Amino acid sequence: MGKIQLSQVRKSFGDVDVIPGIDLAIEDGEFVVFVGPSGCGKSTLLRLIAGLEDTTSGTIAIDGKDATHLPPAKRGLAMVFQSYALYPHMTVRKNIAFPLKMAGMSDAEQAARVERAAKVLNLDSYLDRRPGQLSGGQRQRVAIGRAIVREPSAFLFDEPLSNLDAALRVGMRQEITELHQSLKTTMIYVTHDQVEAMTMADKIVVLNAGRVEQVGSPLELYHSPRNLFVAGFIGSPK
Ligand code: ADP
Ligand code: MG
Repeated sequence: MGKIQLSQVRKSFGDVDVIPGIDLAIEDGEFVVFVGPSGCGKSTLLRLIAGLEDTTSGTIAIDGKDATHLPPAKRGLAMVFQSYALYPHMTVRKNIAFPLKMAGMSDAEQAARVERAAKVLNLDSYLDRRPGQLSGGQRQRVAIGRAIVREPSAFLFDEPLSNLDAALRVGMRQEITELHQSLKTTMIYVTHDQVEAMTMADKIVVLNAGRVEQVGSPLELYHSPRNLFVAGFIGSPK
């Protein structure tokens, strides 16, 4: 579970081709980072995969099944938003359980899944607090918890750490990497930060103006950038 295949995926807004046509395969369990300058189409590509935007043409297959026209809730993916997307009036427990409640899951199953997620994220002792009583890093963990409880086949992150200060960001990067190692679930992580891409990814997808410039491991991109854009962006010596 967690394989995602894009074939000739195109997206235009009005007559602007934001993504002229992308082919991309994401393997089960991979940590894939979409990196590129602001406005290059990273969020749009992630939203297409999540089903929050419709493709103009092309197909998206998830776990071998055509998902191109499936609504977001039927894709088995979980999008992690920045921590400010938490409900301030709800406890951590209720925030994490919220998507399960919406899905009509029993109270017992909700409680069991929240307990499991809280353990993975070290939030056990914070379940009865409200977001305003947490640090930025803890709030970010709650946002991730809300994705984990759905037990998705892949996690989609859109610049989840951009609101955190530099020191906290380094710690959270490490936590997300460890989360990937323990869950072994496919993760797609969008960032404009080269350091984040190089330190977190199994596979980096370098985007430029809606096109894939290069796909490869951090080492491949560093040692064999295909062109000057990739070299300049990754900071390699070419
Ligand atoms: P990134 O996440 O890499 O910064 P985005 O995917 O947000 O880039 O945006 C890519 C391009 O698509 C930008 O030029 C942006 O202005 C445009 N765009 C994104 N969403 C919309 C929309 N809903 N309507 C019109 N243009 C959009
Ligand atoms: Mg974006």
